Amino acid sequence: MSKIDVLRRQLDPSLLVEDPQALLRYTHDWSGDYVGRAGLVVRPRNTKEVADVVRICADQALALVPQGGHTGLVGGATPSPSGEEIVISLERLNKVRDVDRTNYSMTVEAGCVLADIQEAALAEDRFFPLALGAQGSCQIGGNIATNAGGLNVLRYGMMRDLVLGVEVVLADGSILNGLHGLRKNNMGVDLKHLFLGSEGTLGIVTAAVLKLFPRPTQTVTAFLAVDNVEAAMDIYSRARSELSDLLSAFELLPRSGVELALETVVGLRDPLSSPSPYYVLLEAAASGRANLSQMTESFLEELVSTGTIADGTVAANQAQSRSFWRIREAMVEGQVRYGRHLRTDISVPISLIPRFIEEADILIAKRAPDAIPLRYGHVGDGNIHYNVLPPRNLQDTEVQSYLDMCEETIFEVVDRFGGSLSAEHGIGISKQEAFLARTSENHLNLLLGIKSIFDPAQILSPGRLVR
Ligand SMILES: Cc1cc2nc3c(=O)[nH]c(=O)nc-3n(C[C@H](O)[C@H](O)[C@H](O)COP(=O)(O)OP(=O)(O)OC[C@H]3O[C@@H](n4cnc5c(N)ncnc54)[C@H](O)[C@@H]3O)c2cc1C
Repeated sequence: MSKIDVLRRQLDPSLLVEDPQALLRYTHDWSGDYVGRAGLVVRPRNTKEVADVVRICADQALALVPQGGHTGLVGGATPSPSGEEIVISLERLNKVRDVDRTNYSMTVEAGCVLADIQEAALAEDRFFPLALGAQGSCQIGGNIATNAGGLNVLRYGMMRDLVLGVEVVLADGSILNGLHGLRKNNMGVDLKHLFLGSEGTLGIVTAAVLKLFPRPTQTVTAFLAVDNVEAAMDIYSRARSELSDLLSAFELLPRSGVELALETVVGLRDPLSSPSPYYVLLEAAASGRANLSQMTESFLEELVSTGTIADGTVAANQAQSRSFWRIREAMVEGQVRYGRHLRTDISVPISLIPRFIEEADILIAKRAPDAIPLRYGHVGDGNIHYNVLPPRNLQDTEVQSYLDMCEETIFEVVDRFGGSLSAEHGIGISKQEAFLARTSENHLNLLLGIKSIFDPAQILSPGRLVR
């Protein structure tokens, strides 16, 4: 009997997905770039069942891949093509266990979908600020494992800043219970941080205590036309202080990206009447007694009077604000519809963004003159998606090497600026080679040492992140 059959026989059949059609969901990622084969797909209903599955896998030396909403963009959650890895989906651990209004915290299970968590917080007049394009599908366990960022990082931080405590099933099937809602807990090294960004390689997150914030009661969303990236970054620098630190999102959008969005989603309208090379989509939000509309109005008037913006509009209501953000999302959908393309997720110091884009543009134009670059993203966090659509006339067999060459070119510029090749998506499989090539020997030895303590038999997401 194979090891997988031993596992199958020891598990309650109601935990297994066996139907070939249903299995497809667990073997493909959101982008369609990664397709694998699962030895078995297991869907436990609670922490104890997760621990039971892991214990049997540890006994059988079976490799396990934890899976959330499979929206990760670096291939970490997809089982390998070998068919030997067990997928452990957290989707049934989807209860909000508690919302503590006074402690400004909530306790949730790992499989809760991010949008449901946001809703549950709002229902208690509180706010959970993690927000990203995949929020209707991604799960909080996946967000923790990838240390997700998203739209509101500049004000509220990354996932690492939003977690107070975690519950984790370790590689031997034991449960590490760190589910506390303490703001201050200085009892030595805080182990929870090791799981943030560990991409399933150190343990399986089963629950977490999240930080909550006052629910914003006033929101201003503005769509501004700027001539160049310098102007955008000048607005960013001024907006942070002049809006009393109430700026919560600051996105850069190129004209080509807006056009792609308008082509992709029927009914989406250009917010401004004439085109501009770049746009800023900014949002500020406040609760309580601050007069946000007065503050932003006078700030935007000043941007017009000083000629910093050529044109701009402020959303008159929530629906209009939503349509501005829809343009941002539709840019991503447009790229997927275009076909195979290069997605990068890099960061450089915020002040160096204009120079970084300029230098990357020069080098890409030299090495890949027919490429269509799209540079956009959460520039308020120094995070740019410098993406590349390949020219249409490339043969299918040439596309991958063309995109690899473009990626190496962009990373070369990132290195010159002391940047990171992953601002938020993580390493997984797709960035592993580039990551390892830039990791010093002592850094790598420490990472491997940590892995060997948490997972000595290397059964958790083997081959991802480090190897
Ligand atoms: C349209 C779109 C927009 C996006 N925008 C952003 C963005 O703005 N910012 C950003 O940071 N990311 C963004 N992402 C990528 C982001 O990483 C994921 O959306 C999300 O954080 C992953 O959650 P998931 O539940 O889908 O995880 P999965 O894709 O299922 O898994 C991701 C990784 O986490 C591991 N994992 C999953 N659950 C657990 C668990 N419970 N315990 C341990 N390990 C686990 C998996 O093994 C894998 O390595 C975007 C993705 C899409 C498709």
